[in-house]
Amino acid sequence: MPIYEYRCSKCGKSFEKLILSRHAGAAICPVCGSKKVAQQLSRFSSTGSSVSGSRRGCAPGAST
Ligand SMILES: [Zn+2]
Repeated sequence: MPIYEYRCSKCGKSFEKLILSRHAGAAICPVCGSKKVAQQLSRFSSTGSSVSGSRRGCAPGAST
């Protein structure tokens, strides 16, 4: 389930939106209702991969 983070350029409110379709491009600010929102990079995927990746790379010969 891809969740994208948006930030409203009108009131500055950040919010997340679950995207069910690639063409569901109409994100609306839940606070002021503005459609002028900017899509942010998802923090969820980048944080998860970097944590598990660094721990695995830290102990290459632990299983032996
Ligand atoms: Zn807003």
